[in-house]
Amino acid sequence: MALTIDAEHPDGSRCARGNCLRILDELDRVGVRATFFLQGRWVTSHPQLACEVAKRGHLIGNHSHYHARMPLFTASGQISDVTEAEEAIRSVVGVDPRPWFRSPFGAGLDDEELTRNLGRLGYRNVPWHVDGQDWEANRSARQVEESVVRGILSANGAQIVLLHSWPDQAAEALPRILARLADEGVEFITVDQVLNGN
Ligand SMILES: [Zn+2]
Repeated sequence: MALTIDAEHPDGSRCARGNCLRILDELDRVGVRATFFLQGRWVTSHPQLACEVAKRGHLIGNHSHYHARMPLFTASGQISDVTEAEEAIRSVVGVDPRPWFRSPFGAGLDDEELTRNLGRLGYRNVPWHVDGQDWEANRSARQVEESVVRGILSANGAQIVLLHSWPDQAAEALPRILARLADEGVEFITVDQVLNGN
């Protein structure tokens, strides 16, 4: 499975600070390399944390600048949003996020115009197969854990899993998700290993 973490401004105010660092520490502890999609505005407001993600060796992608639903932009709006995020990631983190892009909310994954505009900028839009739904305020860490573990174990072939950098449930569920899947013999890879060759 390829674990992807969308690192962005939180959707809710109830999450504890430091969850992103907790996630990074857990990934380090068990030696798992993940893929982090960084929101441009999050990078500029959390430069040290954004740099830490790269320093620890994770694969970096672009998660837009304003975290809007991409199909709501005009073509030039899409291009300037994606470019702005790329510039923030390159200047703050020192990494080129291309070709990996993730649409906020998964909006426009099948949108031909968005796909074309992303392609012009050198990006591929990365979907997910298993959603931990960790962004839902009412879901417990245990529910997030079960969604991911069952989603992976019931599927065939490489699966991309979505979690976020900020929810308490993500930070809390991650150690058990990784331990249970490792026990089942699941191999942890990054999105380039899932999507290259497709
Ligand atoms: Zn997002």
